[in-house]
Amino acid sequence: MQDYDQFRAQTRAWLETNCPPSQRQPVLEEEQIWAGKSQHFHNDEARQYFEAMRDKGWTAPDWPAEYGGGGLDASQTKILEQEMARLNCRPPLYDMGIWMLGPALLAYGSEEQKREHIPRIVRGEVRWAQGYSEPGAGSDLASLKTKCEDCGDHFLVNGTKIWTTKADHADWIFCLVRTDPTAAKQAGISFLLIDMHSGGVSTAPIKLISGASVFCQTFFDNVKVPKNQLVGELNQGWAVAKELLKHERKLMSSMSSMVQDDQEGIVELAKKHTPTAPDGKLVDGALRRDITRHLMNQRAQELLNERLYHQAKARAIDPRLGMTIKHIGTAELQRKDELLLEILGNRGLSWETPSTTDNEHTIVKNWAYDKAHTIAGGTSEIQLNIIAKRALGLPA
Ligand SMILES: Cc1cc2nc3c(=O)[nH]c(=O)nc-3n(C[C@H](O)[C@H](O)[C@H](O)COP(=O)(O)OP(=O)(O)OC[C@H]3O[C@@H](n4cnc5c(N)ncnc54)[C@H](O)[C@@H]3O)c2cc1C
Repeated sequence: MQDYDQFRAQTRAWLETNCPPSQRQPVLEEEQIWAGKSQHFHNDEARQYFEAMRDKGWTAPDWPAEYGGGGLDASQTKILEQEMARLNCRPPLYDMGIWMLGPALLAYGSEEQKREHIPRIVRGEVRWAQGYSEPGAGSDLASLKTKCEDCGDHFLVNGTKIWTTKADHADWIFCLVRTDPTAAKQAGISFLLIDMHSGGVSTAPIKLISGASVFCQTFFDNVKVPKNQLVGELNQGWAVAKELLKHERKLMSSMSSMVQDDQEGIVELAKKHTPTAPDGKLVDGALRRDITRHLMNQRAQELLNERLYHQAKARAIDPRLGMTIKHIGTAELQRKDELLLEILGNRGLSWETPSTTDNEHTIVKNWAYDKAHTIAGGTSEIQLNIIAKRALGLPA
């Protein structure tokens, strides 16, 4: 029997010592620690914090210790998350390997693949990109066409992927490819890991209206891929793809709690920027109502996640709950962004919010960027279709 109280006390003390003050502030985009060869640290404290977390395996706390993960059980992982949230500790590492590929590899990868890739993901040595969408295959992902031929001792890949986030900075990409063009849609797809430095791989950044570029189109022209980089069985990649999407959608549903303007933050912000009565109450009744509604929705979402956590622990997950969380989480995040802008008033008209705190500085940018969350990882319309069909059993 684990002594969880003792684990909590030790974790709290360890974080107090190893998470420096600058790593307890809301994280700006340029300060995020991404994995990979081009890893960049904003300051020495960021490096120290990352290395301390990495060496404990706490970049992936619940992955098996034999592959470099933290080896924590579900309750310990939750305690760690709670203690990190208590101190406002930043996520130690950003990477699609940590968020998505790792869990899918642990479920479907061969022993050789786990040993090759998982420790490097945990240590932030490799940056991963996601190669799912194609110009003609977004919501209807299973109609993807990137061709993958069996050439005896290797695969040969030809085609293109689009909206590949930061693929121009990635070291590797996990891809869905068509290995059997004659089979029914999902049946002919395989899941392949491709080294971005292989001959024939190229990327073209896609410029956004802001002038920034977070996306690429990625091209594969006669790219040779070793056969041991096929994950799962040939033509059975759809199962791996779905496992990975489960983690992507879970991540996206929790985005609102990752943004650090928490419950107390939104109320404090409203008190700072809108009139208050002598008893400290907000004068604007409609704003009070909207904030209360948001806090209640956020609490309901937390309880839903809590329920999922206990179901996972009991190995009795109701898949219908999992289907709903992305839609609920991303919609609430956007409502929260609207509320924050309303609170900021005229200050919210500026792209660079003039403010005294970093937290406020990011509000307008978050409002614009968070629109993407109801598209990426499957649009809200598609999520609602899935809920209607598979959770509620409604006719097509
Ligand atoms: C920020 C961001 C990051 C992304 N990163 C990646 C990445 O790294 N790798 C990657 O592979 N992809 C990535 N994507 C792509 C993302 O997965 C797709 O944008 C998404 O799946 C939707 O596909 P689409 O853009 O082709 O839109 P479409 O499928 O063309 O959809 C257009 C519109 O039609 C609606 N629609 C389509 N079909 C139906 C239907 N049957 N019923 C009702 N409505 C429907 C959609 O909801 C949407 O509103 C990213 C997207 C975003 C926004």
